[in-house]
Amino acid sequence: MHKEINLSKNQQIIFDIIDKSSEPLKAYAILFNVQKKGIKAPLQVYRALDKLVEIGKIHKVESRNAFIACKSASCEISQATAFSICTKCENVSEINNLKLSKYLSNFTDEAGMKYSKYNLEFFGTCKKCEKIN
Ligand SMILES: [Zn+2]
Ligand SMILES: [Zn+2]
Repeated sequence: MHKEINLSKNQQIIFDIIDKSSEPLKAYAILFNVQKKGIKAPLQVYRALDKLVEIGKIHKVESRNAFIACKSASCEISQATAFSICTKCENVSEINNLKLSKYLSNFTDEAGMKYSKYNLEFFGTCKKCEKIN
């Protein structure tokens, strides 16, 4: 469960924009949206985005350089994320698979290094797009 964290006004505005979006939003799109709401300084937006990522309310989809709201109440570790991305329709969804997260939290490489953080992206064709073809 997410700890109840009180968001600042800016953080709340930015979170709402990302949360309402049906697709991951790039920083400039967020910036464009919040300017209408009175947050003019890009730095304020970037700071709020960093904070939201840090507390796990949003995640960054690195390959798309975009932000997505976390829809999972059980997303405890904001540092560990996995997404499935459809290369046809660009649909991005967060993977919440207990088996996968268990496996990864116990995963060590050949040198015995353990990982506390990961950001995985799986690419493929979603069910919808598969049907079309
Ligand atoms: Zn999440
Ligand atoms: Zn698709």
